Amino acid sequence: MSKTKYIFVTGGVSSSLGKGIISASISKLLKSRGFSVTTQKLDPYINIDPGTLNPYEHGECYVTEDGAETDLDLGHYERFSNVPTSQANNITTGIIYQTVITKEREGEYLGETVQVIPHITDEIKYRIMLLANRGNYDFVITEIGGTVGDIESLPYIEAVRQMRWELGKDCVVVHLTLVPYLAAAGELKTKPTQHSVKTLLESGVQPDIIVCRTEKHLSENLKKKIALFCNVSPTSVIECIDAESIYDVPLLMHEEGLDNEILKKVKVKCNQEPDLADWEKFLYKLKNPKCEVSIGLVGKYVELKDAYKSINESFVHAGAANQAKVNVRLVHSETVNDSNAAEKLAGLDGILVAPGFGHRGIEGKITAIQYARENGIPFLGICLGMQCAVVEFGRHVLGMEGANSTEFDKTTGYPVIDMMEMQKKISGMGGTMRLGAYPCRLKKGSKVFDIYHTENISERHRHRYEFNNAYLEKYQKAGMIAVGINEKDNLVEIVELKGHPWFIGVQFHPEFKSTVANTHPLFKAFVKAAIDQSSKKKSAKGKKA
Ligand code: GLN
Repeated sequence: MSKTKYIFVTGGVSSSLGKGIISASISKLLKSRGFSVTTQKLDPYINIDPGTLNPYEHGECYVTEDGAETDLDLGHYERFSNVPTSQANNITTGIIYQTVITKEREGEYLGETVQVIPHITDEIKYRIMLLANRGNYDFVITEIGGTVGDIESLPYIEAVRQMRWELGKDCVVVHLTLVPYLAAAGELKTKPTQHSVKTLLESGVQPDIIVCRTEKHLSENLKKKIALFCNVSPTSVIECIDAESIYDVPLLMHEEGLDNEILKKVKVKCNQEPDLADWEKFLYKLKNPKCEVSIGLVGKYVELKDAYKSINESFVHAGAANQAKVNVRLVHSETVNDSNAAEKLAGLDGILVAPGFGHRGIEGKITAIQYARENGIPFLGICLGMQCAVVEFGRHVLGMEGANSTEFDKTTGYPVIDMMEMQKKISGMGGTMRLGAYPCRLKKGSKVFDIYHTENISERHRHRYEFNNAYLEKYQKAGMIAVGINEKDNLVEIVELKGHPWFIGVQFHPEFKSTVANTHPLFKAFVKAAIDQSSKKKSAKGKKA
């Protein structure tokens, strides 16, 4: 395709309608038709990135290959399209203003009055088009965070208006709204959609396609009504009915004709139907499991649906890959202690100890790990989860009482997890960690080597603390082996326990690299180990009976 086309996804009526999933689905559908696509999120908050945001505020912070701390929607984009994102795929109002103000201080505006229009909007447009220029993409999909009518997203909507004016048919605006069902009236209501389109029109943006989130099917008449009130053709009113799984959405959107409608609007001819055979195979396996396992997710944010988003989705991928239903049981780390561990963790076929920052819930995580280690339950520790496994082993196997990470106890006699020398000099918050992809070499003969089937891997990181190599020899002698090493900086990236059925701790975040097309090998193997554990339990029970 000669010229890049821009697809903007806006949202109306309510937040949490799933703009991220719609954007990811569009990207999946266009990619499966053979186009090159990238997906971007514009976030209206003033933080530079979500790295410093509390998960209570914003859910998980997703990390890209190039080490950007980004919105969790980028995780959806990658999981659906299997195309890696980067720093440039997540722009915040904070970044835009910081750039413009820095330019102003450097005198780049030559004495002009610096204003929202054109300076802020120019910077927004530059960031959208930069993505196209860099990757030479056929399509750039830009999701605008927030809901139309929000004061803070106005500059983004204005940038969309300008781009449409300047690029004409190379732009298409997809507006996602809610068509609520009023049980008392027994009817679906279109008024909120009409109002949200009016709000967009006030900013000079006429949507081309309206995607309607709904819990009941939209009749042809209702679609016609929305079309009439919102100045679009009835074929541009797309039903988006509540789905059993987010992974159904690309197929549903294709059935409803969303990708066709987009191609029509930007005048791109494409005779190739999307190739969704692998996607359908994945969904078949997901929906037709042959067995079930229970895996405990031990963390301190378990009451938050989005805090461990990528971990939960990795389990969905790994479940499908094993044709098993993975029931993830959330275990609040603050509630686990020595006297209730057996009861809290009873019946689990695997235990995952989650990443995290700060002291809260640490002792519960350590107790859960001790339980998994002593009872031969498959264990996966991610980042802080791996660090806790090292602390646990130090305290209970090596007899180092009070062993700890210096993140939690600066004066511990056994600092088995400690800050890297290069991190000690950094004082500010945000982007000051070991972030993004780093290479790791696996030891031949280890479990992880068999899992990855290769010696050299690359995984994404987000942490400040590391295994303290001063203790390495002691650990290895006692059976906790460093099986993955970053050779350049001599850092332990993976530990494995000898004599345990499946006990692996990783300093990196495998969950950020699991996609529908490429289930992460560690998650796949972990679920397989949980299945083995569950059948072992069943056959032991059978023998007893
Ligand atoms: N808090 C730990 C560190 O900074 C672990 C971080 C994490 O789990 N992502 O090293």
